[in-house]
Amino acid sequence: DVTATKGNEFEDYFLKRELLMGIYEKGFERPSPIQEESIPIALTGRDILARAKNGTGKTAAFCIPVLEKIDQDNNVIQAVIIVPTRELALQTSQVCKELGKHLKIQVMVTTGGTSLKDDIMRLYQPVHLLVGTPGRILDLTKKGVCVLKDCSVLVMDEADKLLSQEFQPSVEHLISFLPENRQILMFSATFPVTVKAFKDRFLTNPYVINLMDELTLKGVTQFYAFVEERQKIHCLNTLFSKLQINQSIIFCNSVNRVELLAKKITELGYSCFYIHAKMLQDHRNRVFHDFRNGACRNLVCTDLFTRGIDIQAVNVVINFDFPKNAETYLHRVS
Ligand code: ADP
Ligand code: MG
Repeated sequence: DVTATKGNEFEDYFLKRELLMGIYEKGFERPSPIQEESIPIALTGRDILARAKNGTGKTAAFCIPVLEKIDQDNNVIQAVIIVPTRELALQTSQVCKELGKHLKIQVMVTTGGTSLKDDIMRLYQPVHLLVGTPGRILDLTKKGVCVLKDCSVLVMDEADKLLSQEFQPSVEHLISFLPENRQILMFSATFPVTVKAFKDRFLTNPYVINLMDELTLKGVTQFYAFVEERQKIHCLNTLFSKLQINQSIIFCNSVNRVELLAKKITELGYSCFYIHAKMLQDHRNRVFHDFRNGACRNLVCTDLFTRGIDIQAVNVVINFDFPKNAETYLHRVS
């Protein structure tokens, strides 16, 4: 889906040469449609509310303008990217580091579940771009160790999730630390109506991008099997033996069921790890890392893992438990 429509080139945006090198070295030849829409507008400083399907390149659509805007000779935090999960924070900071490989921009990741003291120490060093989850960034800001008075860009990835009850208060509080003339860029694949109130309160004349022309999941073949609870494992076993699985993600609706199912799958003789929010962060990082490397083939998880995670080797997604709503389904399978 990452194909150009307008025939723009990355050269058209007059980016810093070092940034352009990073983009090409990452293997991006031309901007994707969401990038064509967002990069030139974001560079002008305008607020953006962008909706585009998963896998269309939203990360680079905000990372490229953010990296372009940062003045690497000014050692203050100039941009913050907030995301709802720790794994997504790591992945996003990785993209920033890769695209910015030839720039001298210091990127720092900060999320809950890790040592606050270490983060405080790291903030004594120069940091230009902060990527993390809202709660931790807010903690650091309230303590005065993270200074946002020169932070002119705030990116909200998976923005609708960041406006759920769990995050919205922290996000709004965080915004109160930003300078008056800040720019806010919001990205997601799903924007429920609840986003409107936030948009009206916090965005100024936003440029709205909506690339959701088609509702189908292109490139995803979907199947369903109607089975009783007690037959689910049997059904899963059949699927495992019949499907050509490169890597798979299997979703359950609770922490308990994740652990139980992972145990069952292991007993069936398949390599399987699991990940959920109640695990220790170190363990969680290790599993995520092993899954990304391909050392682990099958991963059982809760919806913690749905948003924004980009692992190309995954070719099978199983909804072992029925998703709670249509949006959850969309995020799981796309
Ligand atoms: P989204 O956030 O929209 O779900 P991602 O930003 O995670 O999508 O990107 C999906 C994949 O597309 C990633 O593997 C990324 O490296 C790749 N990608 C992004 N932009 C381009 C581009 N311009 N050309 C080629 N590949 C791209
Ligand atoms: Mg994304």
